[in-house]
Amino acid sequence: MNYHNITKEDMLNGDGIRVVLWVAGCGHHCRGCQNPETWDPKGGIPFDESAMAEIMEELKKDYVTGLTLSGGDPLYPGNRADVLKLLKAVNDKFPDKDVWIYTGYTLEQLMCTEKDTLDILKLADVLVDGPYEEEKRDINLPWRGSSNQRVIEIGRGWFRKDA
Ligand code: SF4
Repeated sequence: MNYHNITKEDMLNGDGIRVVLWVAGCGHHCRGCQNPETWDPKGGIPFDESAMAEIMEELKKDYVTGLTLSGGDPLYPGNRADVLKLLKAVNDKFPDKDVWIYTGYTLEQLMCTEKDTLDILKLADVLVDGPYEEEKRDINLPWRGSSNQRVIEIGRGWFRKDA
């Protein structure tokens, strides 16, 4: 997986104060996308151990609420293995920090894909789902750009009970 940026003390992409990983790779190509430079999965730089350490270091801070994965699409098929590895590490070290994932897929689409994707969802607390639809753009909606997108509290505890 490649990524473009890690932003810190972010208050726009999820609840609280967050560290945000902006991954490369997205196959949705939504009209009006704010980040088309992130569509190419080969763009940016490789997500390596030092990037992982940078995120972990940030999550150590008491005032940091959690981690947001955005992009690009963290659930672009070529990103899923590395995202799962990252979320397992975050869950092991910081089980009390929450994880938000932004994706162009709907939850229903993701529920019908391979086990790795379900394993990722089990380690996330909130999924902001669905493609950006320009005709449904609404700047008053918290955490999302268009009204078809949903902020779904999937919750790690709920998934674990049903696993
Ligand atoms: S899913 Fe997100 S990153 Fe991908 S094209 Fe749509 S708005 Fe852009």
